[in-house]
Amino acid sequence: MTDVKELLLSRIRDVADYPEPGVLFKDITPLLADPAAFTALTDALAELTVRHGATKIVGLEARGFILGAPAAVRAGVGFIPVRKAGKLPGATLSQTYDLEYGSAEIEVHAEDLAAGDRVMVIDDVLATGGTAEASLQLIRRAGAEVAGVAVLMELSFLPGRRRLESALAGAPLEAL
Ligand code: AMP
Repeated sequence: MTDVKELLLSRIRDVADYPEPGVLFKDITPLLADPAAFTALTDALAELTVRHGATKIVGLEARGFILGAPAAVRAGVGFIPVRKAGKLPGATLSQTYDLEYGSAEIEVHAEDLAAGDRVMVIDDVLATGGTAEASLQLIRRAGAEVAGVAVLMELSFLPGRRRLESALAGAPLEAL
């Protein structure tokens, strides 16, 4: 394991049965509180953004904002928030997706993405892949291109990577 990977892993706290029984919650607040780890993560996400030729970062609410915004500044690209429905004041594109029980909806300001943009999607955890998949659909509907998805952690016992396959259409899924 690389030094960076070891540092990042050492700063993630596993919380059993949160927010409900049976869920092992990956708490990144110790990582955010450690400037060396947060800087290493920001550098790694910025490096992936540049390497895959992205011109914009989409961050997924809420922890994708915390990780994506400094990476965008470091990479020298714009940052676009994808928010839960009802939070953005301008004209939006929205996408609904299925949860285990019910559904959820995310939105982006329509004017923030256009043809010619290459977008890297950033979030902390890839679990079922539903949120990331919906964000890729939003990006494509806006006419932009998907450069890839970059997450701190992929929960590899869940089928997130498989679920994203067709929406990625060959673009990379990078899990640090
Ligand atoms: P999903 O759409 O199932 O891939 O869920 C991804 C979103 O839920 C991400 O924005 C994560 O922040 C959050 N999430 C899902 N599972 C976990 C977990 N075990 N620990 C921390 N966050 C999680």
